[in-house]
Amino acid sequence: MKYRKMLTSLPKPPGAPIPTAHGPRDWQKDMQDALRGRDALLQFLELNPTEAPESLLENPKFPILVPRGFARRMRPKDWRDPLLAQVLALSRENLRVDDFSDDAVGDLASQVVPGVLHKYASRVLMMISAQCAIHCRYCFRREFPYGDLPRGKDGHEDAWSYLENAEGVDEIVFSGGDPLFLDNKRLEGILDHAASLPRIRTLRFHTRLPIVLPSRIDSGLVNMLAKAGDTRAVVMVVHANHPNELDETTRMAAQALRRAGVLLLNQTVLLHGINDDADTLADLSRALVAQGILPYYLHQLDRVSGTAHFETPESHGLELIASLREKLPGYAVPAYVRELAGEKHKRPLT
Ligand SMILES: *Cc1c(COP(=O)(O)O)cnc(C)c1O
Ligand code: SF4
Repeated sequence: MKYRKMLTSLPKPPGAPIPTAHGPRDWQKDMQDALRGRDALLQFLELNPTEAPESLLENPKFPILVPRGFARRMRPKDWRDPLLAQVLALSRENLRVDDFSDDAVGDLASQVVPGVLHKYASRVLMMISAQCAIHCRYCFRREFPYGDLPRGKDGHEDAWSYLENAEGVDEIVFSGGDPLFLDNKRLEGILDHAASLPRIRTLRFHTRLPIVLPSRIDSGLVNMLAKAGDTRAVVMVVHANHPNELDETTRMAAQALRRAGVLLLNQTVLLHGINDDADTLADLSRALVAQGILPYYLHQLDRVSGTAHFETPESHGLELIASLREKLPGYAVPAYVRELAGEKHKRPLT
């Protein structure tokens, strides 16, 4: 079969286990140690909440959560830091804005069984974890009713039986929350089940953990992915929005994943005041490519309640893409897209 031949040409992991910078439970320790709540975050950055340049949200329903390793990539004493702006809750989140709603992209309408979204013909999105390592204020799923997701070891029975019968689906996109927030044992059960489905050729993860919590890329995970890669293509779409998010720790994580034969792509959300200028986006693309990660999507912000202050007009996004084309090789220019309810694929804006 042609496809099998293609797989054998993917980089093969060596027989010996692939080394990583991290031990088995390091990431769980890093999570216990994460910064929780406004005061912990601001204290870490030596900022005084009473001096905030604009009104902060007291006790957001979607609480502030930031791993220390990610907070270390922020500039101390700088309210305008582009990484801080992604996680600091502002009072503006509570403004009601026309056209911004709780289910802006129609996720609920495409939910075929709890936690499974079948919106596009060839691929099905499976939400396997409700948790994330970081809480991004612009998150498109911040209002998703995660409480209804299946839980526990046998929680995915309905998802598996749906997938067994899903004609034309050859790819599972693991998402959440963050799918890598599951521990290795739980993930292995899911990967084994997915690998038993004959029609599935590609296993894809949508995860921000290689960026915000690189210690998650431990040897257990990497070797499990290498094994899955023997029979399936394994793709990982990470999520970075600003070049400052990439450092030596993310480089080591990306390198371990690439040695395991994982194809690495990145998605970025276009965010007002954070990355909506051509130099920042070009630097982000360069930093990604330098770590072996290809820019995949630049997303126009989904109009989810509480995120209006992050929106950049589409016309400006188009100018930015035009400028990226002049600055970068073609492969480093992401596709500028928007997700719309009821469409068969993300809509290209270029
Ligand atoms: C974005 C998305 C996918 C994957 O889309 P690609 O264009 O293949 O990256 C799959 N399912 C849902 C529901 C999505 O939102
Ligand atoms: S990591 Fe992704 S899913 Fe989690 S809060 Fe951030 S944007 Fe949302």
